[in-house]
Amino acid sequence: MVKYIFGPVPSRRLGISLGVDLVPFKTCTFNCIYCQLGRTTNQTLKRKEYIKAQEVLKELKEKLANWRAPRQMSGSGKLIKQKINYITLSGSGEPTLNSKISKIISGTKKMTSIPVAVLTNGSLLYRKEVRDSLKKADLVIPSLDGGSTKIFKKINRPVESLGIERIVKGLMAFRKEYWGKIWLEVMLVKGVNDKKEAIEKLKRAIAKIKPDRVQLNTVARPPCEKFAKALSKGELEKIKNLLGPPTEVIIDFERRALPEKMKDLKKGIMTMLKRRPATVKDLVDGLGVHRNEVLKYLAFLEKEKKIKSLSYKGKRYYQAE
Ligand code: SF4
Repeated sequence: MVKYIFGPVPSRRLGISLGVDLVPFKTCTFNCIYCQLGRTTNQTLKRKEYIKAQEVLKELKEKLANWRAPRQMSGSGKLIKQKINYITLSGSGEPTLNSKISKIISGTKKMTSIPVAVLTNGSLLYRKEVRDSLKKADLVIPSLDGGSTKIFKKINRPVESLGIERIVKGLMAFRKEYWGKIWLEVMLVKGVNDKKEAIEKLKRAIAKIKPDRVQLNTVARPPCEKFAKALSKGELEKIKNLLGPPTEVIIDFERRALPEKMKDLKKGIMTMLKRRPATVKDLVDGLGVHRNEVLKYLAFLEKEKKIKSLSYKGKRYYQAE
């Protein structure tokens, strides 16, 4: 069974993305209030080979060799092959905690011409060896949700010793040393980091970092804390104008058609949920796919109002509407 590779899944930013998991669930330096994976169970700054580079690369090689691109109807009515746009290192926590991330990036680049993207919370970029380890990636998407200690602690709930100044300095150093693209993601949570004063502080930090793009996002999937609420499209647009270029609001991918193969998984989830309510784990075990893949389709189905989620004895269940 595939353990570390998930997808391809449609991504709002990256098109069709093949995910690679570099840490076990859920290993992170943060414990963000909006995290869709749930609360962090292993909060650490310790870098190690949590998942063996060799195993990840072996699995990736097999996945790419067996990938049969599904065909999809283009706008002009032609059948086109749906290709993978990015191989994305992310997964069940913070990928830079894997001390062999550099080896995984180089190994992937040797295997395929598909660009490699890294989704990171940016918390370890103050370390030179971490910045160096990402140099061969084509795209790095770090996150930064606030420019002040107060907001940083409130929203990201980091390992005690991590400070926002150090993280911003790390991002600035990375910008100077890295030749690829940097798209900075800002996750906005209603009433937490969306006030004018907070946005002004964030704007000052962004001006120092100089990313190629700033992408505003908000809570779209069930967050780990119920009080983490989404902003409306209008509120996001206002913040975009306050921050100015190169800021954009990430458009929902759901409006695009899903390739056939992906529709099958969506159908599989619906079939299970019509039978009885299920947790994410039930769906992962039942369908034999990665947790992140399941989360993605649950979000689509919730948006389409085909399913709803409810809490029972501290667990989140999904059921068909
Ligand atoms: S950094 Fe990412 S994985 Fe870690 S807690 Fe925050 S949202 Fe979750």
